[in-house]
Amino acid sequence: MTQRVAIIGAGPSGLAQLRAFQSAQAKGADIPELVCFEKQTDWGGQWNYTWRTGLDKNGEPVPSSMYRYLWSNGPKEALEFADYSFDEHFGKAIASYPPREVLWDYIKGRVEKADVRKYIRFNSPVRHIEYNAASDNFTVSVHDHNEDRVYEEDFDFVVVASGHFSTPYVPEYPGFDSFGGRILHAHDFRDALEFKDKDILVVGSSYSAEDIGSQCYKYGARSITSCYRSAPMGYKWPANWEEKPAMTHVDVNTVFFSDGSSKKIDAIILCTGYLHSFPFLPEALRLKTNNRLWPLGLYKGVAWEENTKLFYLGMQDQWYSFNMFDAQAWYARDLIMGRIPMPSKETMKAHSALWRENELKLVTDKENYEFQGAYIQELIDETDYPSFDIPAVNETFLQWKKHKKQDIMKFRDYSFPSVITGTPSPAHHTPWLYALDDSLEAYLSDEPKPEEIRRAAGE
Ligand code: FAD
Ligand code: NAP
Repeated sequence: MTQRVAIIGAGPSGLAQLRAFQSAQAKGADIPELVCFEKQTDWGGQWNYTWRTGLDKNGEPVPSSMYRYLWSNGPKEALEFADYSFDEHFGKAIASYPPREVLWDYIKGRVEKADVRKYIRFNSPVRHIEYNAASDNFTVSVHDHNEDRVYEEDFDFVVVASGHFSTPYVPEYPGFDSFGGRILHAHDFRDALEFKDKDILVVGSSYSAEDIGSQCYKYGARSITSCYRSAPMGYKWPANWEEKPAMTHVDVNTVFFSDGSSKKIDAIILCTGYLHSFPFLPEALRLKTNNRLWPLGLYKGVAWEENTKLFYLGMQDQWYSFNMFDAQAWYARDLIMGRIPMPSKETMKAHSALWRENELKLVTDKENYEFQGAYIQELIDETDYPSFDIPAVNETFLQWKKHKKQDIMKFRDYSFPSVITGTPSPAHHTPWLYALDDSLEAYLSDEPKPEEIRRAAGE
């Protein structure tokens, strides 16, 4: 009987899983029956922007944390699909740090070409998954919001690709309940223009703090203050951006820091990260981890060691992203199709323990992305995912980090050659800081906007 595979989520990871099976089918293999459940009305996961925050029109928590004017925070050459290049999608070379809409278009291009939308049931959050020991399969319970009907179906395999940057981690500091301004998490940040002429505080020292602070600077916040818990970001900030140590408490309009200083603040944006959250999974199947490169319990980073008919994609912290999800999806596919044998539980656990041991030795950023690159290489070596030059991607990361250190407001003005096609990327027509229009049309246009060029020239 044909095996059935349920895929939870149609973001980049779930779409990679669909494309991996379709690729095997295109080469003549019989593939299992696929059903992908997606709670949103369209595909692309985080890249499918919504103005909504909180709950969507069905009362479901909004999964996307992306905001207007978001541009890729790493060079696109570090995430390019090895089987679908940017050149192929856009028909011309484009610059290295595309805005969200451009990357969304690219993600969609590959899966439209692969014709896999037919496998996706939209508006369909998975409510619960139960493993049936007697029949060695899973019962998946789904809410079809199109018909407002909850139903169940059985599957032989489940692939969890529901992402891990959707459930905000929201700490509380003394005085929050009496603060007179707005307190929000990065997950609910949508438009930097809301904070024009305001004094804002971004809490945290990772990508969200850096990028949301930069957005607010670009779109006219009066001042930006960032504060860190463990270590400062340490970039050379513009004159109206100050980096402070940890916040201790707040009162009606002032935030106090551990060095004894304080500052009047209009809004506090908590860029404090996300929780891995799987409300649809029972205890025995639920991955519990923080955001790190080697979560335990997943053989080769994908197969749930306690029940190898369950897979997780994209659950690691991400230096590499789309290309890592691909490597994982191809590997999971081959385990599901029996092309790669599933080892004993002892072998799996020993393998994971070794990678965890090595993860714990990592100190520098370079060691971190090289570790993730080596992991991807290990997966690719065992499947037919097209091989690509991982050392060249690591070198791209190295240059990217240098550019950020040089000038945090200018790193997106650099460009890199593709590691897939070798095509050099052109410089974008307008420096990032002055490019206010982030639409696909504006980005792909060869003509800069006169008003943005005048702004760049300081007129
Ligand atoms: P997601 O993109 O989160 O997709 C998960 C999907 O699962 C969603 O569509 C969701 O609706 C669906 N889902 C969840 N639960 C259920 C359920 N119960 N039932 C049905 N469907 C469900 N990466 C980069 O490489 N470059 C960047 O510049 C970049 N910027 C980012 C900016 C922000 C603000 C954030 C939060 C992340 C960013 N990322 C970036 C990382 C991003 O997470 C990945 O690029 C990618 O989106 C992860 O893909 P995913 O499919 O694993 O998860
Ligand atoms: P993250 O990388 O997990 O970082 C969480 C941050 O919160 C860390 O700096 C952490 O500090 C801090 N933190 C946690 N608890 C805290 C507390 N109680 N008080 C103060 N600080 C606290 O999360 P993220 O920055 O939201 O990034 C998530 C993902 O989104 C990443 O993949 C990133 O690439 C992506 N992203 C991309 C863009 C873009 O430009 N394209 C923009 C935003 C986000 P410690 O170091 O002390 O733990």
